[in-house]
Amino acid sequence: MADRCDVCAAPVVQVDGNCAFCHSPVSGDGDPQELLAYLAERLPSAQVRHVLFGRGAVREVSLRGKVVRYSAAMRGGRLVVEPDVALAEWVEMLLAEVSRMAVSNPDVRRGLSRSGWAFR
Ligand SMILES: [Zn+2]
Repeated sequence: MADRCDVCAAPVVQVDGNCAFCHSPVSGDGDPQELLAYLAERLPSAQVRHVLFGRGAVREVSLRGKVVRYSAAMRGGRLVVEPDVALAEWVEMLLAEVSRMAVSNPDVRRGLSRSGWAFR
């Protein structure tokens, strides 16, 4: 059963019992495919690839940071992230990057203000 955070609606990624996105208490486990779709929807500056050209389920979400390129993709039914760290850590890194981007980019800032995420 796929679980979502009650506060920010993210598929659950836990960091010590809290949501990796908004830091509210959560339980259970999110669905990786739903997590990809969630990121694609909420990250205005991300590149999104679909299973079918421009349509179908999200296959990969990537975001070019200042130094690092972040990506998450379904491969063989598993979610694979780059940089290659634990998923919770990846979300933390990604959100830190996106908060830095928001400082200079109004589009990113607008996308984030609707997300309900806790900013770094
Ligand atoms: Zn949350």
